[in-house]
Amino acid sequence: MHPRLFVTLTAPSFGPVHRAGDCHPARRRHCQHGGRHGCGLTHSGDEPLIGQPLCADCYDYPGHVLWNATAPALWKAFRDNLYHHVAARAGVGRSKVRTLVRVSAAKVTEYQKRGAIHFHAVVRLDGPDGPASPPPSWATGDLLLETVHSAATAVALPCPDSAAYSGGRLRFGTQLDAHPLTGGDSGRLTDDAVAAYVAKYTSKSVEAAGAVDRRIESLAEIRALRVTAHVRALIATAWRLGGLPELQHLRLRAWAHMLGYRGHCLTKTRAYSTTYGQLRAARADHARALAGARDLYADWDSETVTESAWRFAGTGHTPAEALIAAGIAEDLAANRQAMREEQR
Ligand SMILES: [Zn+2]
Ligand SMILES: [Zn+2]
Repeated sequence: MHPRLFVTLTAPSFGPVHRAGDCHPARRRHCQHGGRHGCGLTHSGDEPLIGQPLCADCYDYPGHVLWNATAPALWKAFRDNLYHHVAARAGVGRSKVRTLVRVSAAKVTEYQKRGAIHFHAVVRLDGPDGPASPPPSWATGDLLLETVHSAATAVALPCPDSAAYSGGRLRFGTQLDAHPLTGGDSGRLTDDAVAAYVAKYTSKSVEAAGAVDRRIESLAEIRALRVTAHVRALIATAWRLGGLPELQHLRLRAWAHMLGYRGHCLTKTRAYSTTYGQLRAARADHARALAGARDLYADWDSETVTESAWRFAGTGHTPAEALIAAGIAEDLAANRQAMREEQR
């Protein structure tokens, strides 16, 4: 039995956003911009308001974009921590642990409605020779669960240094989710479900007609985009930060349309033999999707290969809604511009 978890790692809060179900309770207090603290409404899951900030001026746009830009490094830190934390729990050295157990994973990257990156991953413990070898008896599901929690909580990277923005440490959000994956009909997520999910995801990623499906070339282009005010603010923030010499290494202008995230939504290693094309075909062929399940795991010690075939698809506006949203965005952008000019 190889302990397996389906893990979701999210971003922290950059400011309250409208959420499905009972939104933030209404409060009497107002923020310094005159916005209400809280909302008090109940939203259905498909309302375009979901993911939009309660107050755009309170929202930490630079922090959000820099988090997206740093997300791959946060994932890598989590991944490295896993081995260290398994070693600590097993009471063995960090180099010794890799001769006893292997930590394998496949992950996909998604955007939440608010435009923040989150990761879904399948994490598994194998024996020293990979999937074919049983893990040592101490490498239990409980140990993996504790390890995933402590490894994610321990991640804290310095915010990229900039005169324009001083953020604290970049961490994962506190909403860490980890479910055991079991085979058979236990009602839990199974490998098959994960395979189907990944197949659906990759297929959707290619087919989706994104609101922002290409690189941004100018600020004027950002103003003309048919996206929500929130997405426009994120793209504009990425563009603005991308112009700062100290942040050149993040290539934020090149990745502004991805809200700062550098483009790779499915990470696999060479051992992960299923290609994107095969996964897409698998969506139409459940049997092949199941076959893909065997290839979901990847050994992190191998060289990582990434593929990019995904664009941020906006938040599902109809054209009419998008036009309205764009109108609001124009006002917002104009307000911000006026504020900036006053401050000069
Ligand atoms: Zn709300
Ligand atoms: Zn405010």
